[in-house]
Amino acid sequence: MSPPYATVIGLEVHVQLATQSKLFCRCSTRFGAEPNTQTCPVCIGMPGALPVMNRRAYELALKTAVALNCRIPPLTKWDRKQYYYPDLPKGYQISQYDLPMSSDGYLEISDPKDRFPPKRIGIIRAHLEEDAGKSIHDEAAGKADSEIDLNRAGTPLLEIVSEPDLRSSAEAKAFLQELRLLLTYIGVSDCNMQEGSLRVDANVNLHIETDGRQVATPIVEIKNLNSFRAVERALDYEAQRQYRQWQQTGQKLGDAPKQTRGWDDAAGLTRGQRSKEESSDYRYFPDPDLAPVTTTPEQVAAARASLGELPAALRSRLISELGLSAYDADVLVNQGRPLVDYYLAVADQCGDAKAACNWVTQDVLRAMKDGGLSIESFPLSAPRLAGLISAIRRGDLPGPRSREAFEVMLASSRDVESAIAELGIEKVDESALVELCRELLAANPRIVADIEAGKMQALGALIGQAKKRNPNVDPNRVREICLELAKGGG
Ligand SMILES: [Zn+2]
Repeated sequence: MSPPYATVIGLEVHVQLATQSKLFCRCSTRFGAEPNTQTCPVCIGMPGALPVMNRRAYELALKTAVALNCRIPPLTKWDRKQYYYPDLPKGYQISQYDLPMSSDGYLEISDPKDRFPPKRIGIIRAHLEEDAGKSIHDEAAGKADSEIDLNRAGTPLLEIVSEPDLRSSAEAKAFLQELRLLLTYIGVSDCNMQEGSLRVDANVNLHIETDGRQVATPIVEIKNLNSFRAVERALDYEAQRQYRQWQQTGQKLGDAPKQTRGWDDAAGLTRGQRSKEESSDYRYFPDPDLAPVTTTPEQVAAARASLGELPAALRSRLISELGLSAYDADVLVNQGRPLVDYYLAVADQCGDAKAACNWVTQDVLRAMKDGGLSIESFPLSAPRLAGLISAIRRGDLPGPRSREAFEVMLASSRDVESAIAELGIEKVDESALVELCRELLAANPRIVADIEAGKMQALGALIGQAKKRNPNVDPNRVREICLELAKGGG
């Protein structure tokens, strides 16, 4: 049963752009270095140090904005967002306030499991800003003090803000998965959540129908969402919590301010935090040290031309040109472009797109998972897998023994002919197969009687016996021949 309310969700995603150096200085952005070894007067905010924009970060942001179908204004500028926090020694973060570098875009999401229809999720804006440092709370070591690591201060982030168009945790998760896929396809971020390259905050409230009118619960911003699973769980929890609270307090919603709550993954609940600042609290003002940035139509066109084939277009092509199901196309595309390229090479060389898809999405993916392999390091090349599929189609390799051949080829990186020889697989001559079936029918009159009585499952015993006599027989062919012979007056 659907709940008696609509869950209204908007997401704010911070993506670390894949640059070598920071947004306004030349310090490295490499993850995992010793604390405070990747800093300079600019990113720790020494008086008089002047920032210079990293052109590469701007190009990556532009590429992302174009891929998200955003409007790109000809002029954008930098603003100081002022607040005090120990990990922000400058006392302000350089961000973009009233003239973001892009706005009014969208991303389309769909669900291969059909839990919701395909829909377009609006993007309010995507803007550039610099990251703050990181506080390290060493409570585990029994110390009460905290330390600050400024290596991350000044790292380029793209903040992507969605419209509140999402209506369930499943839609929110699908949006994040599609966004991550898009960002990795166009190569603007590694989207590694463990390293903080992709961070998510969620805004959620409920629209409740009551006494013929609609009321809305106060919007809650949920922080500390460290995985897509956490996003899903936190949203489900928060929707239920808000509904319970509304039931308890009745109609007295009033104009409660927006709240901030933190997700506790271990406890599986959200807890109240300080209330959310209004943007006026930040006293934004234009950064006097940085010139506005202009973007020409030629630059936008160049960014668009550099995108390559996006995941949605690739799915459509696999469905329309190769005849794959929406589900199969989704499985392939979600694995990333290198796997799709491997698949396309196999399909092209063996001439059977569906068989190639089955082998890649089942056997290849399983072998990759078991061996902890990437497709780039996968020992069975696309031409060799195509050779295996072709051998099955020619009848040189019986279907039931093809997995053995796959394993041999994988383990010793051989071609299919050599694997067939190694396994002693021989092609079964059609007349010999008919003779074998004739003998089996003659030796099993009871089974023949069962088949004649319409008990088709009796055929299984004959196929079993045939395989025992010759492991190379094709069970489907044995079934067909036995049926024909039994019908033909057996
Ligand atoms: Zn620096």
